[in-house]
Amino acid sequence: MSGIAGIVDSRGVAYPLYYALHALQHRGQEAAGISTFDGRAFFMHKGPGQLSDVFCEKVLSRLAGNVGIGQVLYTQKAHRGRTENIQPFNFNFKDHKLSITVSVALINREALRSEYEEKGHIFSSTTNAELIAAMIAHELIAGVSAEEAFVNTMQRLSGAYAGVAILDGVLYAFRDPLGTKPLCYGKTEFGYVAVSESVALDILSATFEADVRPGELLTITEDGVSHRQVLESDHKAYCVFEYVYIARPDSVIDGVLVYDARRKIGACLAKNPPKADLVSPVPDSGIAFATGYASASGIPYIEGLLKNRYVGRTFIMPTPTLRENAVRMKMNPVRRHVAGKSVILVDDSIVRGTTSLRIVDMVRDFGAEEVHMRIGSSPIVAPCYFGIDLATREELIAAGLDVESIREKIHATTLQYVSTEELVASIGIPAEDLCMGCSTGRFPLDIPGECTGCCRKITPAK
Ligand code: AMP
Repeated sequence: MSGIAGIVDSRGVAYPLYYALHALQHRGQEAAGISTFDGRAFFMHKGPGQLSDVFCEKVLSRLAGNVGIGQVLYTQKAHRGRTENIQPFNFNFKDHKLSITVSVALINREALRSEYEEKGHIFSSTTNAELIAAMIAHELIAGVSAEEAFVNTMQRLSGAYAGVAILDGVLYAFRDPLGTKPLCYGKTEFGYVAVSESVALDILSATFEADVRPGELLTITEDGVSHRQVLESDHKAYCVFEYVYIARPDSVIDGVLVYDARRKIGACLAKNPPKADLVSPVPDSGIAFATGYASASGIPYIEGLLKNRYVGRTFIMPTPTLRENAVRMKMNPVRRHVAGKSVILVDDSIVRGTTSLRIVDMVRDFGAEEVHMRIGSSPIVAPCYFGIDLATREELIAAGLDVESIREKIHATTLQYVSTEELVASIGIPAEDLCMGCSTGRFPLDIPGECTGCCRKITPAK
């Protein structure tokens, strides 16, 4: 999923990029990078870890220029830990200078990659961003304009993507024709900002201008933004999981305040509440849902679990037993809130079921008499092909079990998921414009081996 930002600012871009990426840190913690351009050359710094591990004042002060891009990287398991995949990537070829970073999952990646390898291109990473850069470079070398190079490249990509690039000093921002990956832009006193989520505009005191339209290419300079609709689709496929889990609740994505969607989902879950003493979120992802549940049901909102903010990554724990205890390190029940009580716990999703099982057991260990689990997404029955690590079908607990069997496995007193209809109504975007592949098994693009009954029709824009 990753978080991306591109900025044009006459006062310099390194610090604004740092702040924007900081607001997007939840979208990727594996690595971070910033590339800036001063009219002659690129300046770049990138490395593994969170933004604050990678950047310090001294480094930022060296990143000169009034245009720049950056990324906080999230990669799927298969590509994790490969430092060569850290973005942005910078390229100099012929008379061109290109820097690019993309949050992307391509369906036609293998075919495109082998086509470009056969054309003589050699890749130094496994990223789609490098592949897209190669495609843009080939277009430019064939003699088309900068804008046409992006247009022709977008027309050949099949998948979900949001990207920002600097080509010969000009900033470009582009979004997939189904709108699966979020991207919006805003205006500051001294320039423009394109970012994955609106929270990154807030931190820069930028005025929100618009979401980049699905299939749109923006060309951004200090003088303004020009729009080109490159691709059109009969229906969109906005990612439901952005609203349920990925995005920050204070972001507005394609017109929907994420917090509102989650509160409404919580209220839907509260239609037939069990007799309970308190509603508690599983922090932090369950908070907005739980507030909606509590106000709709009238059951008091009391935190039965608190999160330790300072827990690092769990893989640094040296033994399997310690890793098993990762959930315990992240969260601690409030004994006096849960002991002897009937507790409703609200979380965003169950993927493999490991987290829910540990949490339910932990709350019971602290004396809860009943633990009712409520989940803000529909059961996840299929993997995601668009860049979200949701495990394989074999690992997904809901792919093989019905709700009652899942309840038993996670030791909950009762278990309820939000229905697909309520989920859609809470988000407020029509079902035919949402990607719900992970909960319906029906995907908006042609995925080999998957149900293709609801593929969107994508055409070049007129
Ligand atoms: P699991 O233990 O596999 O059932 O994971 C479910 C928990 O992980 C939930 O509490 C979610 O908040 C969180 N989660 C859901 N999707 C993801 C994801 N793609 N990456 C990391 N964590 C996730």
